[in-house]
Amino acid sequence: MKVLHIIAIAASLFAASAHATEPIWDGNKVDMVSEKLYEGVYAYYASNAKELNAKGGAAATSSGLIVGTRGALLVDTMLNKRLNVQVQALSRKLGGKAILYAVNTSSHGDHTYGNMYLPAGTLIIQHEHTRSYIAGHLAEDKAFMIKNFGAGRGIEQIKARTGDLLLAPGGKLTIDLGGKTVDIIDFGFAQTGGDLWVWEPEAKVLWTGNPIIAQKPALPWLLDGHLVATLETLRRVYEFLPADARLVPGHGAPMGKEGIKWHIDYLDAVRRQVQAAVDKGLGLEETVRQVSLPEFSGYVLFDWVHPALNVPAAYRDLSGK
Ligand SMILES: [Zn+2]
Repeated sequence: MKVLHIIAIAASLFAASAHATEPIWDGNKVDMVSEKLYEGVYAYYASNAKELNAKGGAAATSSGLIVGTRGALLVDTMLNKRLNVQVQALSRKLGGKAILYAVNTSSHGDHTYGNMYLPAGTLIIQHEHTRSYIAGHLAEDKAFMIKNFGAGRGIEQIKARTGDLLLAPGGKLTIDLGGKTVDIIDFGFAQTGGDLWVWEPEAKVLWTGNPIIAQKPALPWLLDGHLVATLETLRRVYEFLPADARLVPGHGAPMGKEGIKWHIDYLDAVRRQVQAAVDKGLGLEETVRQVSLPEFSGYVLFDWVHPALNVPAAYRDLSGK
């Protein structure tokens, strides 16, 4: 019920944020570009991501490729066939190695739906939670995604292709691509409970998936609640990273480690202020009114993600109601 309630809120607010039929970004129009971050390490992101990130807009899903002598690993497989074909074409240009592995950083469709378009020999790496979610909920997930990203965007055709290599909660998997090592890590609950982070230790590049949307002023979306656990996980990731690490966020261009700090500072401010409201005995509606945090505004989805999603999630978490 809780999930359906949030979906209803999300659907109505997405529609309110633009013309009723227009998605926040269009899977039929996005063009993916690549940026070399290190030898054999590439970020993929939408051609307009830098511009959108800078003004607090909502960019399409990011991705990336790590190439060794043996083959390549793709991070996230995109929303539809059109975008998956684009990232496969980029991958052919950048070293031309076979995609031996593809990691899904979460169960969200814009990170997993393209699995079915990869070669049969590619091994899909997922968290156990992601696999069981997709196995049990693909039809409702597609309905939600069509509502928010539009009909005729290639979502109707999607069939589940679930993981071949699964990570257990708290797990870590190290892949040797030939002269190139990649760590896939579950740092704890960060948005869905099946959140995987992809770390190339030599290049010091981390793919974050959706727990880190983009640089400031973008904000996290607590779609499945758990503010306290999310905050702890983001702090763990921040501690893990060396000072000169670079991040490829879920929906943006590469950024420095300080990009995580903005998400942490925001969630910590939500935690402190919602806790104060709970201690005063305030109800949810009054708490949402009081915890307005204008100093964290600027993100185009702030008026939805903050009052309708993140403050209620914090309230449930901290009040136990
Ligand atoms: Zn996403």
